[in-house]
Amino acid sequence: MNIVDIILDKRYGRALTDEQIAFFVKGVTDRSIPDYQASALLMAIVLNGMNEREMTTLTLEMAASGEQNDLSFVGDVTVDKHSTGGVGDKITPLVMAISSSFGVKTVKLTGRGLGFTGGTVDKFSSVEGFNIDIPKADFPRLVNENGMVISGQTPDLAPADKILYALRDVTGTVRSIPLIASSIMSKKLAGGADAIVLDVTTGSGAFMKTFEESRQIADAMIKIGERSGRKVVAVITDMDQPLGRYCGNVLEMQEVYDTLKGKGAPDVVAVATTIAAHMVKLAGKAEGLSDEDLISECKTRLSDGRAMAEFIKLIKAQGGHVNEDGLVFNAEPVEVYEVKAPESGFIFSIKTNELGHCSVALGAGRVTKDDVIDLGAGIGFRKKRGSPVREGDVICKLYVGKDSKLLSDTKTIESIADRVLRAYEISTSKPLEIRPVIDVLGA
Ligand code: URA
Repeated sequence: MNIVDIILDKRYGRALTDEQIAFFVKGVTDRSIPDYQASALLMAIVLNGMNEREMTTLTLEMAASGEQNDLSFVGDVTVDKHSTGGVGDKITPLVMAISSSFGVKTVKLTGRGLGFTGGTVDKFSSVEGFNIDIPKADFPRLVNENGMVISGQTPDLAPADKILYALRDVTGTVRSIPLIASSIMSKKLAGGADAIVLDVTTGSGAFMKTFEESRQIADAMIKIGERSGRKVVAVITDMDQPLGRYCGNVLEMQEVYDTLKGKGAPDVVAVATTIAAHMVKLAGKAEGLSDEDLISECKTRLSDGRAMAEFIKLIKAQGGHVNEDGLVFNAEPVEVYEVKAPESGFIFSIKTNELGHCSVALGAGRVTKDDVIDLGAGIGFRKKRGSPVREGDVICKLYVGKDSKLLSDTKTIESIADRVLRAYEISTSKPLEIRPVIDVLGA
């Protein structure tokens, strides 16, 4: 088999055979196919697409390019959850806690943040003592004892995707339905869960900016799941504004804790309970409840202490410190600036990705993978879309950690505050209806 012929086949719009796709993925993984040829094929896929069979084969081959988790030790249906990313996305700890209260067993492998969306690894790392690098040998014990475990993703999971993603990033080939869907699903399949709930975000703070694009990606991932024997449900959620009240690591984990005390922001509660409900249903623990009743039961457990008890169990099991006042953190946020409305009206639109970049500029995220994060940094969102504001009202609060260099750098803080303000559009009219959960597909 010859890689040039494979490139030419795709260039002329022909479907690739399973053998051609397997040859490509193997050659990428063992580095026998040079980057320029891999990139040429990626571009041909961007331009000419892939059918369902090709996408599924690409996914399965990438999943098989490294270690594949065997979760049979769980002895029950395992359900994974994945988000395509967003600003203020603190849903993972909430859905783990809620679904665990129904007896759902979770093995969650998760990533570090890079770019404007935060990573769950960093959020959990903000809790003093919490160990996010759990050796695989300890998974069965932790799942048996606590029903769940969360750990940083190992580099051995779908290494072909890692190589291809790095190439896509520098060759203008990231945005492609078959490439995105197979990239995400390859890691999920290698993770080993029987069923997967996908949180497909849409809007200015998401990877996919329009509902239509998000629906197409969700559809592609559901089809890949069907063809590879995994049940997949996709929940399309709004990212035209940050999720909840804060972004930033300590700030978000505190928000998780407050939500589990029954004081959650309505959008966080809506997204978390919808995703948790579908996890519970896929795990077969819904006991004949309708989707509506199940979501309502998830809401009850989120605020009556049952989900909190599961969360505390998880934190303690992995070494995290918690006392009667709540979580103990590795950093302390210090408020450094209040961003105020320059005029009266309604918050009409928000450039959510820009707020994510501003949070990174405050120190809450990484631009390159070796950057050190300020776990105390972030933004507090006081006004959301549709909120009425009067001139001078506080829209946002900016935070840095108590040891941040930015504490004495007023000029930089002011320039970030200026960027934050420009991310908000204030209008005399209200935006149309805003729904945190836009659609559920595959249920
Ligand atoms: N996230 C992934 O893991 N892969 C993509 O291609 C896009 C987003």
